[in-house]
Amino acid sequence: MKASASKGQLYRSLHALSIVPLLVLGLTLALFSYHTVRKTMIADVQVELKNTVNSVILTYDLLYPGDYHLEGVDQYVLLKGTQPLNGDFDIIDRVKADTDAEITIFYQDTRVLTTICNSAGSRIIGTGSNTIIVRDVIVEKQPHFYTNTEIDGIPYFAYYAPLFNSDGSVAGMVYAGKPCSIVNKTVMSVVLPVLFIALISICVASVIVSSYTNKLLGALQKIRTFLSKVSTGNLAAELDSGVLQRGDELSEMAYSALYMQRSLRTLVEQDTLTELNNRRFADKHLRQTQMYANTHGTGYVVAIGDIDFFKSVNDTYGHECGDLVLKKIAGLLKKNMLGKGFVARWGGEEFLFVYDNCTLSAARADMELLLDEIRSLPISYDDQEIRISMTFGLAEGGIGTNVKDLLQLADTHLYAGKSNGRNQIVWE
Ligand code: GH3
Ligand code: MG
Ligand code: MG
Repeated sequence: MKASASKGQLYRSLHALSIVPLLVLGLTLALFSYHTVRKTMIADVQVELKNTVNSVILTYDLLYPGDYHLEGVDQYVLLKGTQPLNGDFDIIDRVKADTDAEITIFYQDTRVLTTICNSAGSRIIGTGSNTIIVRDVIVEKQPHFYTNTEIDGIPYFAYYAPLFNSDGSVAGMVYAGKPCSIVNKTVMSVVLPVLFIALISICVASVIVSSYTNKLLGALQKIRTFLSKVSTGNLAAELDSGVLQRGDELSEMAYSALYMQRSLRTLVEQDTLTELNNRRFADKHLRQTQMYANTHGTGYVVAIGDIDFFKSVNDTYGHECGDLVLKKIAGLLKKNMLGKGFVARWGGEEFLFVYDNCTLSAARADMELLLDEIRSLPISYDDQEIRISMTFGLAEGGIGTNVKDLLQLADTHLYAGKSNGRNQIVWE
């Protein structure tokens, strides 16, 4: 299976599951802090600008008592009391230096004194104010705070307060303002770290989820490969021990797959009555023994054993008793072959033996002892003692032996023994 296929739907879902909530949380936090900080900052700026405007008005009142009024014929001059104000930027420049705020004094809606300069560097004296501001401040005689006034193309937070003369009439306005960019910069300096932390958290989560998901998918992939091998009949397929050692639900799943393989192997390779390997397995085993003999030059011995007069056991005591005899004999044969080789139920009451790395005479000697044990094996059924004997046909295999011919020879020897009175071992 390709790597791209293993990083499929499950990989993407697990990533989305962990990253989407973090992304939403990060964005919500960033938006919330943006709004909160901006609102607080704007409120602070409003108070600051209001105080600045009030202190400008107070400074002029204290320094130059009297009303604001114009004098002159062709060229008008704004006076406060007897003090001409035109061209005298000293006070507003000092306020700007102290507060960082731009200051403007309007006579009616026209700028008479200002700290604001245009792109050419000259003060924007003589320019007019916006009609909405004139209506709000001069006509309605109320101070006003604006969050977005444009002066010379630059957006400002602005506070305007009317300039009252002693008779209550409005002579003009005082303006204090700060560019919106100052506030936005401060807001961003709070919001950007939040966004940055959210981003880092997402990256860290992504790395953790990625490594966890990869391990998870790796284990799943191993189980899947194992199951597909088993499903195509490979009952000897091995399952990675790492998956079994995970100690989680996946290793439980892996163990179940392993047990399923064992059950299948038992079903396919084992005889249910005697619990010996069946003929299919014995065939495979024999081929492997021959291959080993071919490559290592070792000899081996094959024997086919058949229970004598087994039909009469069934006929006399019943099939249940016959089954019991088969089980008892199988148990004895299995025990006898431990460490020597292999025994399988070849069919009916016949058994196949393979003596590994063995000579014909050694196998024959072992079979003699085995036959003695079989003859004296006590089998009781329904308070009756049943005695059994067997006949064996032996044949020796080695390098280059044809397995079919070998079995044929063992079979011929077996039938020779049967014809010769049974209860014996035939090897030549
Ligand atoms: P021989 O000495 O010539 O081998 O005689 P035999 O009676 O053992 O051989 P025969 O082939 O005539 O009979 C074998 C009997 O084994 C016939 C069959 O019903 C019985 N048999 C085969 N498989 C089983 C089994 O699983 N259980 C039981 N109870 N009987 C079985
Ligand atoms: Mg028989
Ligand atoms: Mg038989």
